[in-house]
Formats: sequence, structure tokens, C-alpha cells
Amino acid sequence: MIPYGHQSIDDDDIAAVVAVLKGDWLTQGPAVDTFEAAIVEATGARFAVAFTNGTAALHAACAVAGLGPGDLVVTSPLSFVASANCARYVGASVGFVDIDPETMNIDLPRVPAAADAVVAVHYAGLPVDLTRLAHRPRVVIEDAAHAIGALTPDGPVGNCARSDLCCFSFHPVKTITTAEGGAVTTNSYEWADALRRFRSHGTVRVPDEGGWAYDVVELAYNYRLTDMQAALGSSQLAKLGTFVERRNRLAAAYRAGLAELAGAGRLILPPAAPPGWRHAYHLFAVQVPPVERRRIYDELRGRGVGAQVHYRPIHQHSTFASLGLGPGSFPAAERAGASVLSLPLFPGLRDDELETVVDALRTVC
Ligand SMILES: *Cc1c(COP(=O)(O)O)cnc(C)c1O
Repeated sequence: MIPYGHQSIDDDDIAAVVAVLKGDWLTQGPAVDTFEAAIVEATGARFAVAFTNGTAALHAACAVAGLGPGDLVVTSPLSFVASANCARYVGASVGFVDIDPETMNIDLPRVPAAADAVVAVHYAGLPVDLTRLAHRPRVVIEDAAHAIGALTPDGPVGNCARSDLCCFSFHPVKTITTAEGGAVTTNSYEWADALRRFRSHGTVRVPDEGGWAYDVVELAYNYRLTDMQAALGSSQLAKLGTFVERRNRLAAAYRAGLAELAGAGRLILPPAAPPGWRHAYHLFAVQVPPVERRRIYDELRGRGVGAQVHYRPIHQHSTFASLGLGPGSFPAAERAGASVLSLPLFPGLRDDELETVVDALRTVC
């Protein structure tokens, strides 16, 4: 089965992890500092703080931004559940704003003035245009789990040019991996400090009381990344440009191979990046008729093509039932959620495998 996503690990990555295993530090240590410096370098943000995973990074971002009970945090319904759960972790209320079907991203002009924060998801790796916010909420958080390596006219995603905090995930299907892992970037010294406390039990050193002394100043968590993972992350990050370039080349090959089917109205191709922007292509999600999707999915699998669905809209999951958001609440996201199908896309996907996927689609659509 050709999977929809897969990590690309080479001998350099393996050697980087083995070197840590032979050293003195296994959990958070110097390799985490090095990885964070590399994220700063890659994104242009002033600070980067590594976390155990992207969900923890989002939780931390909401917490240090001061979001909590009484605050309304809005996000896109067409995302992974973590984009909304981060608000629930801090006791804030979750709201959704429908997507713009042209970009598949949250329709920012419709973010209500009552929102205290927006979690802007760069769906599939196409950056949300943050200049389209009609009202700037108190807090703007980017969920860039799909979008490391993407560019906007303001520079790399993660530089926080138009946001307060930007969160990444390094899960194996994402563009670079540390197995589990994540990070938050910010340009605020205070928030970077708060992020470091948040991932390590709210601990601060008290040198005046002795070399050993520390104080726990607030309730926090153990969300530390290990040095083994951080070494893998630095090694992977060095290949970010190559990975994103390969993903863009594969996406272009899909567009060419599927142009005829798209022209005949059998499927809809995903939005491309406008001039001056770079898509990270975490996903290549075509849309097929909702009544046909299950058959197409099953028949693709039968032909060895592991397509996947991203996503069942968040508000349709049982855990959000109490919000009372029934069918028709977010029509564009619901339409997309019923028709999207992510095709295999990862740097190690071979050209002949891509041809297999295209041929299979030509047959089953
Ligand atoms: C993967 C993902 C996350 C969460 O990342 P983890 O590292 O798996 O915790 C959050 N948001 C989006 C949009 C994602 O795709």
C-alpha cells in the first residue's frame, strides 16, 4: 500500500540520534537548544521553544497568551481536533468560522468581533492570508502543523509577522519529523520565557538560595522534547528546503496527471499558492462527489493506493455535540469534509508510484 504520508529518514538522521545515545544527555539538553536555534534560523522568529508534540505546543500557546474561562477562541472546522482542543484545555470556549472554499482555510473576514483569539490553521500547507482579518482579536495563533517551509509575502511561516505565536508539529506524516514533537515560535521575550516554564513544571531557578534551588511559580506540565528527538529534528530541518521542493514537484505532477479528470468535472484539484507564496504541500487533497467517495476510497485501496480523509469537520465529532452545531452550521467545511481525499504525497514517493496513483484515479473516477 502506498501510504498518504511517510517520514523520510536517511543515514545522517540515524547517525544524529545515535550520537545522542552515546553522549550524556538523553532528555532535554543541548540538542534541544541546537534544534530551537535551527527553527529560529529557518523561520526568522526571534524565539522557538520545542515541545513533546504539536498538541502540547498549541496548549502552551493558548496558556501563555492568557486565554482561559470566558474567552472565545475560534478556529477552522476543517482541521485536526487539536486546533480546537487547545482552547478547551485552558477552559476557553471554542467557536468555529466556516472555510473559504477557494483556499480551504478559515474565512478570516468572518471572524467575529467577539472572538478573543483565532487559531489560524494553514490547511494542507497553504498559508492563511492573515491580512484578511477584519478585526484583529487579542491573540492570533497560527496552527502551522502543515506549513513548515511555506512562504508568504511576509516571509517564512513561523516568523510571526502577523501573529503572536506559531505552532508546529513534527509527527512522522508532517514535513519534518522528530517522531513525536512540536514547537512554538514567537517574537515575544516574555512569552518565550513563559513557554519554557510551561513545558517544565513552571520551574524557575533561584540562584540566590543556592546552586540547587528552584521555585515552582505556577501550575504547568512536563512537555519536554528529548535530545534524541531534537537531534533528529535538527538533521531533518537541514533538509526542509529539499523536502518542500520535492512536495511541490509531486503536486505539480499530480496537477498535470489529473488535469483531464478535473476538466471533465470528475474531481476538483486543491487550491495552488498565489504568486509570491509557497505552498508546503503537507497534503494534496482532491475533492470527489460525496456519494462516490467511499467507493473511490475503497477501490483505490484495492489498487494499493492509501488515500486518506482530512478531515471530518471538528464540530461533527461526538465530543463537540454539546455545542449543538448540527448539519448546515458550516456548509463549506461540511461540503469539503464530505468530499476531500488526500492522495499519497511525501518526499520519498517515487515518480512511478505517483503514476500508479494517477492511473488508479483515472480508472476509479
Ligand atoms: C498534526 C496536527 C496537530 C497536532 O500535532 P501532534 O504533533 O500530532 O500533536 C495539530 N494541528 C493540525 C492541523 C495537525 O495536522
